[in-house]
This record gives sequence, C-alpha cells and structure tokens, in this order.
Amino acid sequence: MPSYAKSIALYERSRKHMAGGVSSNVRYASVPVPLFFARGEGARLHDVDGNVHIDYVLGNGPAILGHAPKPVIDAVAASLAEGQVFAAQHPREGELAERLTRLLPGAEVVRFATSGTEAVLMAMRLARGFTGRTKILKFEGHYHGWSDQAFISTKPSANEAGPIEAPVAVAGSPGMPPSVLDDVVVCSWNDLDLLAEALQRHRGEIAGVIMEPVMVNGGAIPPAPGYLEGVRDLCRQHGALFICDEVITGFRVALGGAQAKYGVTADLAIYAKAVAAGFPLALVAGRREVMDTLVDKGVMHGGTYNGNVQSMAAALAALDLLEADDGAVYRDMEARGRELMDGLAALAAKHRLAMLVHGLPAIFQTFFTKGTAPRNYRESAATDRDAMLAFHAALQEEGVRVQQGGRWFLSTAHDKGVIAETLAAADRAMAKMAHH
Ligand code: PLP
Repeated sequence: MPSYAKSIALYERSRKHMAGGVSSNVRYASVPVPLFFARGEGARLHDVDGNVHIDYVLGNGPAILGHAPKPVIDAVAASLAEGQVFAAQHPREGELAERLTRLLPGAEVVRFATSGTEAVLMAMRLARGFTGRTKILKFEGHYHGWSDQAFISTKPSANEAGPIEAPVAVAGSPGMPPSVLDDVVVCSWNDLDLLAEALQRHRGEIAGVIMEPVMVNGGAIPPAPGYLEGVRDLCRQHGALFICDEVITGFRVALGGAQAKYGVTADLAIYAKAVAAGFPLALVAGRREVMDTLVDKGVMHGGTYNGNVQSMAAALAALDLLEADDGAVYRDMEARGRELMDGLAALAAKHRLAMLVHGLPAIFQTFFTKGTAPRNYRESAATDRDAMLAFHAALQEEGVRVQQGGRWFLSTAHDKGVIAETLAAADRAMAKMAHH
C-alpha cells in the first residue's frame, strides 16, 4: 500500500492559503487527497512520497509527447532569453500559423489564445458575429470549458436533464447568471434525428453548433458512422456554423485531429492541449470568411499572453516530432493503444469483470457495465461509477494513474515496455477487485 503522508501534509498546508488547496476544481477528485507531484518524465510521474505512477492522465491531455520531452524543453529554454510577451508580434507566430494551416482541415486562418476555455468563447462570439444570430446549440455531456456561456449541461443529473428529445439547459455551477441559459439550446449527441428536430424548432436562431467530435469528457465515445457528416449538412441547411471543439482530439487522434480522422471539415475548430505538448496555447482555426469578422466586423478578441514566445517555441518543436516521417508517432501510438485496450479487455474477461474498453487507442474509457457500448452522455452516465472508482483506486495502488472518470490518455512515451507493465499492474488490480 503506497504512503501518501507527504502529499497529505502538503495539502493541509496549501489549504490554509489556497482556496480548496487546488488551482482547479477538477483536482479535488483524487484520493486520498489531491496528490502532489515532484516531477514527470516520459510516461511516469513521481509524487512527493516517492511513489512512481505510470501516467494516463497526462495533464488531462496536453502531454502527448510524455512529460518533459527534451526537444520541446530545449526549444523553450533557448527561447527564454528572447523575452516572453511583447504586446506585439513575434516571427514564430507566423511560422506556426503557416504550419497549422497546412496541417489542419479547413484551417484557412488561425488566431492564437492561451486556454481552451477562452478559445471556445472566441469561436462562439465569431459564430454570433458572423451569422447575426444569438443561440448556440451544444450537446449534453460535452465540456467546452468553465465559462458562463459554455459550462452548461456538461454533467446534468438524471432528474434535472429533462426528456432526451429536448433536454433542459442546466447551469453547471452556482454563480452563473440564469440568463445565459436563454442563449443555449441543448441536444442529445450522436442522433441526427434529434438534432434535425432541435434545429427545426429553433429555425433561424442558431448561430453555431458546437461539439467534441469524439465525446471525450462524457465518456470517450466516438461518433456513429455518418454522424459528423450529417451534422455538417444539417448546419449548412440551417445556416448555422459547425464548430468542432478539438481541444482534446486535436493532435491526438490524428495529426489533423478528429476532422482528419473522420474526413469531415467544420467551419471553425478549437485546438489547445496537445498542440504545445504541455505549454499553454490554444487557437481557433477556420474559414477565412468567418475568421475575418475579427477584422471586418470588429469582433473583439484579446489576451495578454496570446502568441507568447515560449508557447510558440514549444508548439513548433512539438510539431517537428509529431509531423516527422509522415506522422509515424501516430501509427505507433495507435498500435500501443490498441495493445493496451485489447489487453485490458482480455484481463476483464479473465477476472469476470463487467468492464468494457471503449474509444480510440489514443483516448479510451473503461466503463463498468453489463450493457453495450454507450452512445451518448445518458448511457455513459448510467454505467457503474462506484465500480469505476474502485478500479481507479486499485490501479493507483498498483502504480497506474488514470482519470477518475475512467479515461485513459496515451502519449508517444508509452512504449511496449510501459504497456506490458501497465497490463501486469491492471491484472493485479482486477484480481483484487474480483476478490472483493
Ligand atoms: N474543450 C474541451 C473539449 C476540453 O476538454 C477542455 C478542457 O478539458 C476545454 C475545452 C477547456 O480548455 P482549458 O482547460 O484549456 O480552458
């Protein structure tokens, strides 16, 4: 049983001076307390008590090259003496933008921001500014950051969510003005008929339809075949912009994100996380005509740290690795991820646990359910969360760290040896669970 004595002591101390002892509410979740890490290296994290964790959280997605990838660190270190922020342009911004417009589907123009939350706000304002309409349609279970405008129906409880045909827009937090709910239409995901009905009910009102093209935050669920194409076509038919939130899928499920993987192009897309391999960078990419409303119509977007020297250096260095040999790292990551998914499924069968391994090799989910693979948020929320938490705790004891919700992110640092070690640890964790 690992000791967490130093984490516990540090947490008690932090709580005296930091609200809740953490810098993000989602970090409350870990057990026995929010853990403190001393350093990360490749696929592993070392906590302050000396426990080593094979890390499948990866900062919730950014560490696509593992922790502290040397070429990225070196590029950032070399850029430090140049300065950090100029409230002006830097040549690397243009260089990065050129590469991104070449790599990302539908990216005629990009605009840099610092976090996913604010890039989502930019995309929603662009959609409203471009179409002159007010409402945004979003999907239940999809997370687009913590802003008032977006943190809606991300995790609604069954008794507040309303009927699946027309879900109620549920504010995700106290302190959000109820008026924001008037400008959002919530729909269940992965069902074209329900979307067609919602768009029809709100004919002429919807500025944009935003989604995670693979619903990661609601359970690592891929889109049904033809769904993304259908959404794109319905958006066109109704004069609404199709907005893909690729904050997690971008540079992860493929170099060109989910749009490249599924061959569907959105009007606007949002990227963050993996694009700068751990450094703070987000961006909106899309059709020139839409992006140009930032200029032509004066749609406002600002941000002190946007395009800062270190994030640009990090992203350029990360792309050198991700793009090398025609995206060879993605082929490797896919093979390793598949090995891990298949291995976990085989272990679940061996230990007679009703566990389903679902998703894509670079982001997947271990669901506890006797049913079939969930297709939307409600089905995902109906799986056995207590069993998932027990599995999470058993894995942590064996030195494997996954998201509490049961999500596994992969990095290029998770090599064959790491996968074999993980499966051996999962075998022990499942044996304990089966025993209990
Ligand atoms: N969009 C998606 C799909 C996300 O998963 C997240 C964060 O997890 C965000 C937006 C918000 O990004 P950030 O945490 O950088 O503000």
